[in-house]
Amino acid sequence: MHILIIDDNPNDRFMIIREMRREFPDVEVEEVGAPEEFEQALASGRFDLTITDYQLRWANGLEILRTLKHRYPERPVIMFTNTGSQEIAVEAMKSGLDDYILKSAKHLVRLSATVKSVLERNETRRRASFFENRLQFLLNQLNVGVFRAIPDGRLLEVNSAFLRCLGLNSLDEIRSNNRFDEIFSRAGDIMPEQRRERELKLRRADGSSFWVAVNETLNTTHGDPVIDGLVEDITGRKRAEETLKRYATRLKTLQELDRSILRAISPTEIAQAALAYTYPLIPCELLDVTLFDLEHQQASVLAVESSDRIGFNSGESLSLQDFGDISILQQNQVMLIENLAEHPKPYHVQQRLFDQGIRLLINVPVIAQGQLIGSLNVGAIQPKSLTEEDVEIAREVANQLAIAIKQSRMREELQRYTEQLEQLVSNRTQQLEEANSALEAFTYSISHDLQEPLRAMRGFAAILLEEYETALNSVGQDLLNRIASSVERMDNLLVDLLDYSRLSRVDLPLQPINLNSLLTQVLTQLEPSLQTQQAQVIVSEPLLEVVGNYRTVEQIVINLLTNAIKFVVPGVQPQVRVWTEHRNRGDRWVRLWVEDNGIGIQPQYSERIFGVFERLHSIEAYPGTGIGLAIVRKGIERMGGQAGMESEIGHGSRFWIELPEFVK
Ligand code: ADP
Repeated sequence: MHILIIDDNPNDRFMIIREMRREFPDVEVEEVGAPEEFEQALASGRFDLTITDYQLRWANGLEILRTLKHRYPERPVIMFTNTGSQEIAVEAMKSGLDDYILKSAKHLVRLSATVKSVLERNETRRRASFFENRLQFLLNQLNVGVFRAIPDGRLLEVNSAFLRCLGLNSLDEIRSNNRFDEIFSRAGDIMPEQRRERELKLRRADGSSFWVAVNETLNTTHGDPVIDGLVEDITGRKRAEETLKRYATRLKTLQELDRSILRAISPTEIAQAALAYTYPLIPCELLDVTLFDLEHQQASVLAVESSDRIGFNSGESLSLQDFGDISILQQNQVMLIENLAEHPKPYHVQQRLFDQGIRLLINVPVIAQGQLIGSLNVGAIQPKSLTEEDVEIAREVANQLAIAIKQSRMREELQRYTEQLEQLVSNRTQQLEEANSALEAFTYSISHDLQEPLRAMRGFAAILLEEYETALNSVGQDLLNRIASSVERMDNLLVDLLDYSRLSRVDLPLQPINLNSLLTQVLTQLEPSLQTQQAQVIVSEPLLEVVGNYRTVEQIVINLLTNAIKFVVPGVQPQVRVWTEHRNRGDRWVRLWVEDNGIGIQPQYSERIFGVFERLHSIEAYPGTGIGLAIVRKGIERMGGQAGMESEIGHGSRFWIELPEFVK
């Protein structure tokens, strides 16, 4: 601590110093007994506190006090004198004196106590003022308005942030203004110790609106109730909230629109749904979708959403000339008339809407794959009332609409094509079925009816050969034999044909088939021809089990084996191998192979040989009817399977059939 002692009496100074040192051993003392020393002390300003006499030769204590307080207002000054009067003391206190003590030996002891308390008081004051400044700084920094009012609403005090927040210059301005009454009203509603929070929308003098959050508590100072409140500008937050809300609604609208597109409805329904969702989003009185038919220069109203029957009826049609100039729309630009009252109205539609009260008009292009197909039209009674965001929403909806309408049109077209195609297919199928059944009936009846005369011919030829053999010479006998074998062949042909046509008509009930036992049975049946041909058949047992019609599979295997031992080079021993294998195509399938060492088949005939009467060799070389493989194909197809073959000329053939596996 550093004390300045001003007194022109050295003895008095000595006394004071001694007393100070006694109480504050570390104290530093600066003595002033002359004006220059005072000047010097003022200039250096090293002291924390001053003790001054009143009556000095070169000045009086009041002047000293004022000089000190002027220069160092925060530093305490104590007057220690025996010349002062009551008046001087009062005067000095007014000028900021911190204490006044009469100079006497008795009061000297009080001096150190006074110094102590003055210093403490000063420290407290300094800290209080520091905190107050800090608080004020923080409050202003936070931009939170602070006010204190009495319960009837009269304002007592406010901070600068409060004035700033309300756009005011002084407290008086608010008192003479009732625009903000709501902030301080209804104080009676607040309960003591409770807090009331409100969000209010207020208007500034220039008409612009803003939002504040008001936070109040009812307190008591000196026994009187007061309202302490905080006011905060929350316009930014409110705007952000509103924007967010609008954005969420916009998003939802677009999602709903997407959903209605997915629900596969007509263009009209899509447009109606889109308008119903958009209408609440845009502050307007009319919203409609008009489609253009550029070829016929027509515009037709697809859907309308409006208040008080403004605008058009959906389904209404008008000429494009009445609608307006669509060249701007064709460039994918929005047409905007902010006020029809100040705008020429060369088109019928504009005049009509104007007569109905519409002032603001927007046409947004609906463009699908680069082509203008229509427009989304917005009309509002209030001129210049739509924001950029509203136009943006209209554009978004128009874009979605374009896709939706295009898709829906395509869907409708596809539907039409499909129906036409189905009709065509069904007509053809019916014709084919009729032709087929006529053919089958014909084949059956011919084969059946021909058997009768054939039997007679065979009978008579037999009688001739038996009873008149001697009456004929060798040429006659040969001719007769030829007739008999032709009859035989014709009979075979008819039997095969009947089998074939029966296969098309009868039901083929399916059942599990053990191919091992089927093969054993077939081989027994073929035993005579196998022996004649000296053929060797190897079956790779066990064969897999399949699902099929037993008799049909039996017939197929007989046909394949018969061919396998028949179509060999004369003199070569027929060698046949039979086996099964798994084929995986979705379900489990079994393929049965019949491989021979015969003459083989050229690849280009691999399909043809499955047709009726298709043969690759003469009857003389290899007898047959040409129906065997046709029966194979027809039979396997009727059981839901497949048949085919692989071959290399000179290296034998491999025929196969495929049927579903029987899984136990
Ligand atoms: P067919 O055996 O009565 O002549 P298919 O319908 O059974 O009649 O056979 C049609 C034709 O396919 C046969 O005439 C023959 O030319 C050819 N073919 C059938 N199987 C074989 C085979 N294993 N090897 C060579 N050619 C065959």
